Amino acid sequence: MNQLTILEAGLDEIICETVPGEAIQYSRYSLDRTSPLAGGCAWIEGAFVPAAAARISIFDAGFGHSDVTYTVAHVWHGNFFRLEDHVERFLAGAEKMRIPMPATKAEIMDLMRGCVSKSGLREAYVNVCVTRGYGRKPGEKTLEALESQLYVYAIPYLWVFSPIRQIEGIDAVIAQSVRRSPANVMDPWIKNYQWGDLVRATFEAQERGARTAFLLDSDGFVTEGPGFNVLMVKDGTVFTAARNVLPGITRRTALEIARDFGLQTVIGDVTPEMLRGADEIFAATTAGGVTPVVALDGAPVGAGVPGDWTRKIRTRYWQMMDEPSDLIEPVSYI
Ligand SMILES: *Cc1c(COP(=O)(O)O)cnc(C)c1O
Repeated sequence: MNQLTILEAGLDEIICETVPGEAIQYSRYSLDRTSPLAGGCAWIEGAFVPAAAARISIFDAGFGHSDVTYTVAHVWHGNFFRLEDHVERFLAGAEKMRIPMPATKAEIMDLMRGCVSKSGLREAYVNVCVTRGYGRKPGEKTLEALESQLYVYAIPYLWVFSPIRQIEGIDAVIAQSVRRSPANVMDPWIKNYQWGDLVRATFEAQERGARTAFLLDSDGFVTEGPGFNVLMVKDGTVFTAARNVLPGITRRTALEIARDFGLQTVIGDVTPEMLRGADEIFAATTAGGVTPVVALDGAPVGAGVPGDWTRKIRTRYWQMMDEPSDLIEPVSYI
């Protein structure tokens, strides 16, 4: 068994459990605290503000109607990962929702870079969202009278699955009390905050003593979980859901890595029976990298420990954050 240590990541409030020698390690640095934006920076209504002071209007339809789409990109060891892919998915989602985008792609990317740079954070969670916005009258709901709003923030890395969970694995259940919203209700292809189904599944997982839940769609196929995609390995093939899921950028990366390792990959229908017979299962998300699922509905997945392919894909994923490539963009800290 590897020995667990607690590492401090240069910032007093960030304490991260990980395992020495594993690929997931925070930068060791000390943050220059002279700027009030250090440690977390947001961009709202044309100004950069400290993340802790960031406020938006209560009349924003993003809040009132969840009329909003977003993405979360990340910075690791001072490098953005797949920034342009995130922004392209974000723009496509906004277009589908017919939310007028108040900035160009280049401007959005610059604002994301700006928030990270001003925050000084080497490891950051970078959220950009666009809302339907608000009008001149308080509570205005007429669509044409609303002006869309773009919000950006960079804060210390937020984890769905922390580094130690990515190393040791998690348990999951298949939710029984709720199904994933289908594409003809709230299209999960668009990254959205309509988390009613995902939150209900999270409560069910808690009640059943598990870390998280996978949701089925109304036809009984496996979709995804609260903020992550689900992948499984069986006899050298990686399977993941085609329908009623967000096309995750971490999932895309994991599939590319798997193909580089010589595995077959299939984006298709995944049934609960396939999951129960899987050699390995893992979750993929920006906020959790590649996380092994070692038990499903109380039964071990494979040998009940993180699978070999999952561990290889996870290690490769985090190594990519340091290797110069088209997917990486160093942040210039001022
Ligand atoms: C963000 C998210 C994911 C993961 O997507 P990434 O691009 O890999 O971060 C998966 N499912 C849902 C519902 C999400 O919101």
